[in-house]
Amino acid sequence: MNNFVFLGAPGAGKGTMSAAICKDRNYLHISTGDLLRAEVAAGSDLGKQAKGFMDSGALVPDQLVADLLSHALGKKKAEATAGFIFDGYPRTLPQAELLQTALEQNGLSLSGVVLLDAPESLLLERLTGRRLCRQCGAIYHLLFGPPKKEGVCDKCGGALYQRSDDNETSVRQRLEAYHKQTQPLIAYYTERNLLFRVDSSEQAEANYRTLAAAVDAWLAS
Ligand code: AMP
Repeated sequence: MNNFVFLGAPGAGKGTMSAAICKDRNYLHISTGDLLRAEVAAGSDLGKQAKGFMDSGALVPDQLVADLLSHALGKKKAEATAGFIFDGYPRTLPQAELLQTALEQNGLSLSGVVLLDAPESLLLERLTGRRLCRQCGAIYHLLFGPPKKEGVCDKCGGALYQRSDDNETSVRQRLEAYHKQTQPLIAYYTERNLLFRVDSSEQAEANYRTLAAAVDAWLAS
């Protein structure tokens, strides 16, 4: 099994690229953002505690995310054949240590860490124009990849919505959290010879071709 972390600023394409590679290559997708949004939607205690941090664009405290990650890994491990893609986890150095421990406890290890790289000027534009399908989770962009019919998902006919943290104020805060708390992971994983950079400044299809080739090259090296 091969297990990868997808690292990158908000808007770099972690969600889109990890969903695409999971579909293409049978990896299991663990997105802490998705898991947290599910808790918020379910109105659980954890969701109630996390919501304020998420809406403002701050990171949710490490200890709240830790259990979600460990449970998801333990629960999905039996179905894993190709491996896991960790999307948006870790985002802090203590989370990186926790992931390492959780993987070891499950007899797993990391094969690589993909750093999705897109210029800062693109990120805000991508996030504020992003729309998602409430039903199937498909991702659109008002300018770069609009649905055929406004507000309706091409794939399943579901209604499209904007994430509550995709407004300009929250996005600026998310970028700041990335620079302060997540960027140190680049050095952390570089020192461990796990990090490789993938340009994600083009449109989704071209970015996916670049990513798939980079993953193949990394696994062959
Ligand atoms: P994402 O869907 O990955 O953009 O995450 C959306 C929001 O969920 C982030 O802005 C954080 O508030 C929270 N979140 C997701 N993953 C983590 C994590 N690993 N650590 C802390 N907060 C997280």
